[in-house]
Amino acid sequence: MNEYQLYIDGEFCEASDGNRFESTNPATGEVWATAPGATEADVDRAVRAAKRALTEGDWPALTATQRGRLLYRLADLVAEAAHDLGSIETTDSGKLAAETRAQSAYVADYYRYFAGLADKIQGDTLPIDKPDLHVFTTREPVGVVAAIVPWNAEMFLTATKVGPALAAGNTVVIKASEVAPAPLLAFARVIDEVGFPPGVVNLITGFGEPCGRALTSHPMVDKVAFTGGVETARHVVANTVHNLAPVTLELGGKSPILVFDDADFEGAVNGAIAGNFGASGQSCVAGSRVFVQSGIHDEFVAEVVRRAEQIRIGDPLADDTQMGPLATVAQRDRIEDVVAESTAQGATLHTGGRRPEGLDDGWYYQPTVLGCPDQDVRSTRVELFGPVMSVLRFDTEDEAVTMANDTEFGLGAGVFTRDVSRVHRVSRAIRSGIVWVNTYRAVSPIAPFGGFGDSGSGREAGMDAIHEFTTTKTVWINTSTEPMANPFTIR
Ligand code: NAD
Repeated sequence: MNEYQLYIDGEFCEASDGNRFESTNPATGEVWATAPGATEADVDRAVRAAKRALTEGDWPALTATQRGRLLYRLADLVAEAAHDLGSIETTDSGKLAAETRAQSAYVADYYRYFAGLADKIQGDTLPIDKPDLHVFTTREPVGVVAAIVPWNAEMFLTATKVGPALAAGNTVVIKASEVAPAPLLAFARVIDEVGFPPGVVNLITGFGEPCGRALTSHPMVDKVAFTGGVETARHVVANTVHNLAPVTLELGGKSPILVFDDADFEGAVNGAIAGNFGASGQSCVAGSRVFVQSGIHDEFVAEVVRRAEQIRIGDPLADDTQMGPLATVAQRDRIEDVVAESTAQGATLHTGGRRPEGLDDGWYYQPTVLGCPDQDVRSTRVELFGPVMSVLRFDTEDEAVTMANDTEFGLGAGVFTRDVSRVHRVSRAIRSGIVWVNTYRAVSPIAPFGGFGDSGSGREAGMDAIHEFTTTKTVWINTSTEPMANPFTIR
């Protein structure tokens, strides 16, 4: 059994009430690790440590360049630990090791990008409309950041928050998901090795109640960076009524992939497969509504089905596995319910829709392709977070765009066509934070990431992320040789 600890104020510790909760390996259904569930007192201790570190001690005295150096060191240590951190994430969440290890290694590039930005965060000198005044702005850290992450890409979603937050001089309390707490609690050892002053980075875990609630409503929290589901986000926003902290929300999606008759067929099929079956479909940018133009619709469905049936499902740690289990049994149950409801509503089950044979211990589900007559079918409406592709037919470009925009979400979108004018028309017309043309699921530290509508607000990555973690200070300096005028003397 692997026993993890919280990391508060530079020390590894247990929860104040001594309680631990169990974490299950989704590939076997067996408990493999335990973690302390942070209590309200633990959350308070972590936030106070972060508050202290923000204004006292070594952290606020560092130059921006020195902060950047610490982030470069973090990047190097993450790169060294990437293989082990990836394996832990796979065991705890069921995500493919090939993906978690590669993602952990790429996470180092996120820290490097923000390390480089640390001493490039600058304000302006203003050509003010008054004599004898010199006015300039600086970008200041917002303060104590609460970073809340889900289980599905923890190392990555932590880097997109912690990288810019630390580069800008903030301090952070990271809350790992109770579904898979191990990777981030293991990451605490890397953080400890970097040598940040105590309290600059704190790592806790626990359930929404009390841990998430206590953290997001804590009066000393100045900013909440949240990634998770829409319903949880509503609680988070409601919690911030207590501290009035600005909130960045990275939420779910029901992203469309539009495949036109003139598309490169192989590329479009690969886009739909990657968008739906990569990470067992447990991706916020899953392209789970695939709209295919009539001319190639039947051929496209046949090929996607053929490819889905070839996917090797199994142990996510094994090198030759292509799709692992779902992270929780509750998720698999829900997917089964929605697929059953969708076929009852008239969807055609082209393939999948069942648990694979011979994998009874873990929470596996077959790659599934549903042919949907319209978007009254439930699978086209709700985020499933699983390997379920809903395919719909369209005739005209306008029809495709209207159908694609008929959702409350707006995170990603894919467009597959060879027509360059259409590329511009369609990518302008689609309401989503990201549009991928003739590719899908690409991310980079350099490119802003985030959604429209119920998919969230604010952006992670790119220079935009620095703006999310800084606030403007305006400094007015009287340069006159005369003292400031008496306000009650009328001239
Ligand atoms: P979730 O909303 O259940 O949990 C997310 C985090 O919120 C967890 O750490 C959880 O403990 C915490 N939490 C729960 N209740 C809380 C409360 N009342 N106050 C504060 N925190 C609370 O999400 P999940 O099931 O772990 O993750 C899947 C969801 O995350 C999907 O909807 C997915 O689309 C979304 N997601 C979005 C992005 C993105 O960048 N847009 C990326 C990955 C995942």
